[in-house]
Amino acid sequence: MPTSTTKTKTESLDNLLPKGNSDKKFMILGQEIKMGESAIIEMEVAKLHTQNSLSIPIIVERSATDGPVLLLLGGVHGDEINGVAIVRDIIRKNYNKPTRGTIICIPVFNVFGYLNQRREFPDGRDLNRVFPGAPKGSLASQFAYQFTEEIAPLVDYVLDFHTGASDRFNSPHVRCDLTQTEALELAKIFGAPLIVHSINIAKSIRETLNKMGKTILLFEGGKSLQLDQSVVNCGVEGTLNVMRYLQMHEGELNLEEQPFIIKDSKWLRAPHSGIFEPLAKNGSRVQHKTIIGRISDPYGEFEKKISAPFDCYIFGLNTAPIVYKGDALFHVSVEEK
Ligand SMILES: [Zn+2]
Repeated sequence: MPTSTTKTKTESLDNLLPKGNSDKKFMILGQEIKMGESAIIEMEVAKLHTQNSLSIPIIVERSATDGPVLLLLGGVHGDEINGVAIVRDIIRKNYNKPTRGTIICIPVFNVFGYLNQRREFPDGRDLNRVFPGAPKGSLASQFAYQFTEEIAPLVDYVLDFHTGASDRFNSPHVRCDLTQTEALELAKIFGAPLIVHSINIAKSIRETLNKMGKTILLFEGGKSLQLDQSVVNCGVEGTLNVMRYLQMHEGELNLEEQPFIIKDSKWLRAPHSGIFEPLAKNGSRVQHKTIIGRISDPYGEFEKKISAPFDCYIFGLNTAPIVYKGDALFHVSVEEK
């Protein structure tokens, strides 16, 4: 149930929310979409060497009532399937039809990576490190440029859905720069169990959108090339909360408990090489000296226990069964004493 403080805040923020741009034409990639209309627009990604064109659908739903523009992005990294599934579920359940404003869904942003089940574009570049892009840059850079020029100026808020890399399972959390008050407020409204401070990475989509004055949250949950329904549900529920807060969707905010804010974090690394067994639950809070994992050899000769060096949350976990000394095992919060 929502807390009364949250409700009051929502009401008092009414005047601060973007009121939309009903007086201006809403043009996306050369096509006008009027209030109350929906459209699926194809955005060209590349001309292939087979002479075929490759494009991605951009699903636009405009309410008859003016309001903010929210963009939902999945698959910026092509192998991060949970994010694609979150945007898909939102479309499947018709949550992308707003009661005011406009919702733009791009479920598979990096379609090349998605087809190849890889993080990168075919030119080997991480799409999330080439923004804002350039008209004569690399393939990924040209695509980024098209987005920055044609789509980004239209939006007010962006939710960008990610997962950990292979063998790095992220417990569901929202990442934002805690010094940005509106992003932090939105992160609290999203309602994932944890909020993790993260500054903008150079040339990321988040950096570009921030420079343009847009509010963007990163959601992280699960790991690449794996579908996790509880992570997907967390992403969908959080998105609905954001939509309700922006008054784009009916219903009360679903906030069970206040998210814990992680201001600083570090990876605990393997003290030995061997077979790794985590013994603490990802997403849980552990006390100083709790045994959180063990490493053993294949011959039954040694077993080394790993204990928590301080009280912390574990929010990222290495799921590889075999590790080398120095490998990152547990991503944990570092808290002030
Ligand atoms: Zn990612």
